[in-house]
Amino acid sequence: MSYFPLTKHQQDWQERARDIAGRELADRAAETDRLGQFPTESLEALKKEGLWGLRVDKVHGGLGEDMVTTCVIVEELSKKCPSTAMCYKMHLEGVEILSRIPTKYQVKKFVEPLARGEVFSAAAGGESAGAGDDWTPVNTLAAIAKVPGGYQLDGLRKAYVTSAGHVSHIELRCRVGEDTPQGSASKLFIEEDKIDWEIIEPWDGLGMRGNSSSPVKYSGFVPDENLLGAEHTIFQDTDAFLRPMLGLTYAAAYLGIASGAFEIALEEMPRQYRSGHRRLDNVIYQRRMAEMSTQIEAARALMLATALYFDQERGTTDLPYLQAKVNCSEAAVRVTSDLMTCFTGTAFARRSPIERYFRDARAGLVMGMANDVAYQSMIPHLFPEA
Ligand SMILES: Cc1cc2nc3c(=O)[nH]c(=O)nc-3n(C[C@H](O)[C@H](O)[C@H](O)COP(=O)(O)OP(=O)(O)OC[C@H]3O[C@@H](n4cnc5c(N)ncnc54)[C@H](O)[C@@H]3O)c2cc1C
Repeated sequence: MSYFPLTKHQQDWQERARDIAGRELADRAAETDRLGQFPTESLEALKKEGLWGLRVDKVHGGLGEDMVTTCVIVEELSKKCPSTAMCYKMHLEGVEILSRIPTKYQVKKFVEPLARGEVFSAAAGGESAGAGDDWTPVNTLAAIAKVPGGYQLDGLRKAYVTSAGHVSHIELRCRVGEDTPQGSASKLFIEEDKIDWEIIEPWDGLGMRGNSSSPVKYSGFVPDENLLGAEHTIFQDTDAFLRPMLGLTYAAAYLGIASGAFEIALEEMPRQYRSGHRRLDNVIYQRRMAEMSTQIEAARALMLATALYFDQERGTTDLPYLQAKVNCSEAAVRVTSDLMTCFTGTAFARRSPIERYFRDARAGLVMGMANDVAYQSMIPHLFPEA
């Protein structure tokens, strides 16, 4: 269901994404999770549908879709395979600046190939100090050196790179020059086959097990032409479109975990077992289902309203996108926790896909901007004078 007034075009995309997810993602999701296997075939299926170039402008051969459509599609994909949806969302995130403000060189070199499905990317931002520090986040951004004609990466380390080892290109966040202050970030879009990279430790996450979100070390020379936007300006110049896009696509991926698990419950609850028993006969479960549906609809309404706000360029602050992100990720955690209770030992013994959604949902609290940090970031908007 969607109370939000989707256009005919957006509804068509919703149906198409639902069809693709049901046909191409659903059957592989359990195996992807069980083996912790990167969902290559599922992502290839999205490529065949032109979805890798979803947000590339039509003039460059892409689909040029808006944020409402993007959210609708990511939610539908996540309903069937959250790992695939997250890798796909990180790809969209990795190519957003490129799609919006490419140089002429980048249009030919990256954007048009992206629209043709020749570019699959990851976004490498967060860092930790590394082995020996128990993987504690450092909350700082490492610096790379400016050298004639480009930049030199010298073992730059990223803590969690979703799709590590499976991308053609990487969007890398860094500082340029040791003297550059923290918070003054730059971004490079790099062909992975032109630098050296090493996966430091294979991914074996509690959830999102298909993500390959491994720590990676990067070394090598990157030409000037691969700089996205202007040096040192990433947090300022691109904030207006990048941060909302990040928040909303995370929101959609987490909402899909909630609504995907809920749709399974809608089918399972009324099923009559041989004993004649139905889970739906339990009035406490009835109440929980009604409560979950309310949480999901509220989260979806906020997400899509916020996405439209973005598409209409009405947003002047991050507040709505932060709210959409935390709301959808918390809906996913609440819904999947309640369903774990409703599906009792069956879910706990991993005989139901619900437990996979439950594990995947946990990522929403810490991934992207951690929710604690997102809430903290709302405070200046709520108390501008304080
Ligand atoms: C499955 C998965 C995939 C990921 N994929 C990627 C990826 O592709 N690219 C990428 O760049 N990163 C990725 N990450 C990393 C993820 O984005 C970070 O874990 C997330 O941004 C949190 O950052 P952090 O670990 O540095 O924690 P921090 O931001 O340091 O936060 C850690 C905790 O400290 C507390 N805290 C810190 N600062 C504040 C504050 N200001 N106010 C209140 N509390 C605070 C909170 O409790 C918070 O949860 C991934 C993570 C996961 C789990």
